[in-house]
Amino acid sequence: MSETIKTDVLIIGAGPVGLFAVFELGLLDIKAHLVDILDKIGGQCAELYPEKPIYDIPGIPLITGHGLTEALLEQTKPFKPIFHLGEMVLKVEKLGDAQFRVTTDGDKVFECKCVVVAAGGGSFQPKRPPIQGIEPYEEKSVFYAVRKMEAFRGKKLLIVGGGDSALDWTLNLQPIAERLTLVHRRDEFRGAPDSVNKMRALVASDDMDLKIGQVTALEGGNGVLTAASIKTKDGVDRIECDAMLPFFGLTMKLGPVADWGLTMEEELIPVDTAAFETNIPGIFAIGDINTYPGKLKLILSGFHEGALMAQKAYHYVYPDKRLVFQYTTSSTSLQKKLGVA
Ligand SMILES: Cc1cc2nc3c(=O)[nH]c(=O)nc-3n(C[C@H](O)[C@H](O)[C@H](O)COP(=O)(O)OP(=O)(O)OC[C@H]3O[C@@H](n4cnc5c(N)ncnc54)[C@H](O)[C@@H]3O)c2cc1C
Repeated sequence: MSETIKTDVLIIGAGPVGLFAVFELGLLDIKAHLVDILDKIGGQCAELYPEKPIYDIPGIPLITGHGLTEALLEQTKPFKPIFHLGEMVLKVEKLGDAQFRVTTDGDKVFECKCVVVAAGGGSFQPKRPPIQGIEPYEEKSVFYAVRKMEAFRGKKLLIVGGGDSALDWTLNLQPIAERLTLVHRRDEFRGAPDSVNKMRALVASDDMDLKIGQVTALEGGNGVLTAASIKTKDGVDRIECDAMLPFFGLTMKLGPVADWGLTMEEELIPVDTAAFETNIPGIFAIGDINTYPGKLKLILSGFHEGALMAQKAYHYVYPDKRLVFQYTTSSTSLQKKLGVA
């Protein structure tokens, strides 16, 4: 059964802009939950360039993608945001004035007064490996993410890939699998050297197998996998398996955002520049996902958009109250909310 969660605002996307929106909303006593399809916060900063330095965050001469994510998380802490990671928002429905229902693929339902779409370039989705006939097995015996490790206990597992995800899941699932085989196209790995060493030690002690080659075909029926063919330099090996986990990286796709009744322009959401509200009152779009004359896809633009969005959202959340503009430097009331007064 779906769980219904009531909140003032539901933020779709926990990238830098969604995170800063929590802060701006929090200053105005507006509570937020955030949903992100990634299993971590930080959006592009965390997924695409965690170690790269960013030089154009106002007042911070240099900070990495990871560092910025950590700093934003710290800044949101007084407002106790609740994150729902590893879930994709599928549906946004208007129930009435300042009333929305938002549904995720994790079977959660949110009822909220405003929706903030901070979905960036869209949802990060796994790249499908080029194996003919893979589709019927997806989400039955082929999985692009591990949501519950227990689902793989006692199974014959095939993990495919050479990056950190493939190596991390190899190390995590090997102790509970009946037998685990890691397949990678070459005998060099992009993952952390420590993980590579641990994986090689498990192979040396015969606790798992490593195949250098490519998965070319799957065997089974009705979505139930029984074996996979691996093309190696010496020929084709057949490996019995119950489940395959390919980790071929992520790609950004717009995803379900296009189905929510919002006006779209070339996969972006047009907004007004007074409040960054969409064509549906009460639904806002901030950060890389929106468009307006002069838009720059920069983190600092998304921060500004979040501040103005919060001012308008206040009127939906507290229709009978008057909003008084205040500075964090001089308002004791804001400082109390931040836990510094
Ligand atoms: C290599 C690189 C370098 C960059 N360098 C800079 C720089 O130096 N300075 C700068 O200002 N900007 C830089 N950028 C751009 C910057 O990263 C983006 O402007 C910023 O990440 C936008 O933030 P956002 O929160 O709007 O979106 P994102 O960071 O894209 O986050 C959006 C999040 O929403 C999630 N999402 C989308 N749809 C759904 C859904 N239906 N359900 C659940 N979750 C969903 C996604 O999974 C994602 O995590 C760079 C970008 C790249 C790729």
